[in-house]
Amino acid sequence: MSKPTVAIVGRPNVGKSTIFNRIVGERISIVEDVAGVTRDRIYSSADWLSHDFNLIDTGGIDIGDEPFLEQIRLQAEIAIEEADVIIFLTNGREGVTDADEQVAKILYKTKKPVVLAVNKIDNPDMRDMIYDFYSLGFGDPYPISGSHGIGLGDLLDAVAEHFPEKGEVDEEEDVIRFSLIGRPNVGKSSLVNALLGEERVIVSDVAGTTTDAIDTTYEFEGQKYKIIDTAGMRKKGKVYENMEKYSVLRALKAIDRSDVVLIVLNGEEGIREQDKRIAGYAEEAGKGILFVVNKWDAVEKDEKTMNRFTEDIRKNFLFLDYAPIAFVSAKTKQRVKTLFDQIQMISENHAMRIQSSVLNEVIEDAVARNPAPSDKGRRLRIYYVTQVSVKPPVFIVFVNDPELMHFSYERFLQNRLRESFGFEGTPIRLITRARS
Ligand code: GDP
Ligand code: GDP
Repeated sequence: MSKPTVAIVGRPNVGKSTIFNRIVGERISIVEDVAGVTRDRIYSSADWLSHDFNLIDTGGIDIGDEPFLEQIRLQAEIAIEEADVIIFLTNGREGVTDADEQVAKILYKTKKPVVLAVNKIDNPDMRDMIYDFYSLGFGDPYPISGSHGIGLGDLLDAVAEHFPEKGEVDEEEDVIRFSLIGRPNVGKSSLVNALLGEERVIVSDVAGTTTDAIDTTYEFEGQKYKIIDTAGMRKKGKVYENMEKYSVLRALKAIDRSDVVLIVLNGEEGIREQDKRIAGYAEEAGKGILFVVNKWDAVEKDEKTMNRFTEDIRKNFLFLDYAPIAFVSAKTKQRVKTLFDQIQMISENHAMRIQSSVLNEVIEDAVARNPAPSDKGRRLRIYYVTQVSVKPPVFIVFVNDPELMHFSYERFLQNRLRESFGFEGTPIRLITRARS
C-alpha cells in the first residue's frame, strides 16, 4: 500500500524545518544513523492519528545558485510534482510578503489540495494576525506555532481530509513491485530497457494511485512485475532534476512503494557514500534488497575480481549481509534475465509466513544449543515466538524480561531463523515482549 505524500512549501525562515521536525518527531533509528540518512533530513514517514504519510520539507532542497525567487519557485514546483497534499507555510509575524505571493502564484496552477498555515502564532493574542492571509486565496488559514507545538493537530486534520480513503489505493496482490535505485549514471535506465527487452509490456502509463509516479507493468514467465517510477529514471530536463537531494527524494519515494529494491552499483567505479545512505533507507523501510553490480562488461577482471567486489559490498553494507549480489551488464545483457529469478525469490522470502509450531521448534533448538548468557544472575527465558506480519517478516518473542535480550543474542536468534528458513534478501525483525 502506498502512503500519501505531504510537502511543506514556503519562503525561507517561515519555520518549515521546525514544523517538519515536530511532525516527524524522533524517528531516528540506529540503521539510519549509521548510514547517515538522518543528516539534513527532508523526507520521512510520519503519522497522525490513524494516518500514515510521508512528509517532505522542500526548503531543504538546495537549488544551487539560482536567484532567491527562482529557488522558492522551483521548490513550489517540486511540491506540486511530488506531493498529494501541500502545506503552504507563512509567517504570521511578518504578514503576507511578496515572496509569499510568488509561492501562491505557482500553487494556483495545481489542482492538488493546498492547506494554508500561518506559523509563529505563539499565543492566542496573536490570532488576529492570520486575517491578512485570506488574501492569498487558499481559504481559512490555520494558525500554528512550530516552536510551541500549537495548532498542529487541527492543521493535520485538515491535511488528512484530503487523503484517499483507506483501501482506495490498494495494489493488486499478484504483482511484484520493484525499483532500481542508485546514483546517476550507474545504468538504471539502461537496465530497465534491458529487463523489458522484448517482453510484453502490459501497461506503461500513469498508474495513478495518488501520485503521478509512472510505473511499468509487465509479465515474465507467468509472473507480473511492476517497475516503480520508471519515469524517475528518464531525464526530464528540469533544473532541479540533477540536484542530489531531489534525486534522493525520488529514490526514497520509489523505495516506499516497492517490495524489492535493486540497489544498482557501478562496477567500474565502486561504492560511494550516497549508495550507503540509500541502502540504509531501504533496510529501514523493511524492503527486500538485491545488489546489482552493473557495467560488469567494462571491468577488467581476473578470477578474483568478483570475490573482491563482493567483499567490498559486505564491508560497506554491514547491515545488509543477507542481500544477494548479481553482477550484470545492461550493455551486453549478460545475466540481466537472471534478475527476475532473484527478484521473485526475494519477494517470496519477504512475504514468507512461518507456522508457529515450526518456528518454536527452531527457537527451542537454538536455545538448547546456545543458552542465553545470564546477566547479574538472571537468565533470559524465551516462552514463545510468533510471526505477526510479513513484508518484512516480523516476529514477537515473548520472554521473562525484555531487558535481558542483548543485541548479540538477538542477532544469534535471527541467524538461526535465517539458516532454518532461508530469508535471503529480506530483512527480518524480532520484537521482544514480556509475557503478560
Ligand atoms: P525554514 O527556513 O522555513 O525551514 O525555517 P526554520 O524552521 O529554520 O525556522 C526559522 C526560524 O524561525 C528559526 O529561528 C525558528 O526557531 C523560528 N521559528 C520556527 N517556528 C517558530 C514559531 O512557531 N514561533 C517562533 N517564534 N519562531 C519560530
Ligand atoms: P542512469 O542515470 O542510472 O539511468 O544511467 P543510464 O542508464 O543513463 O546509463 C549511464 C551511462 O552508462 C550511459 O552512457 C550508458 O550507456 C552506460 N551504461 C549503462 N549500462 C552499462 C553497462 O552495462 N556497461 C557499460 N559499459 N556501460 C553502461
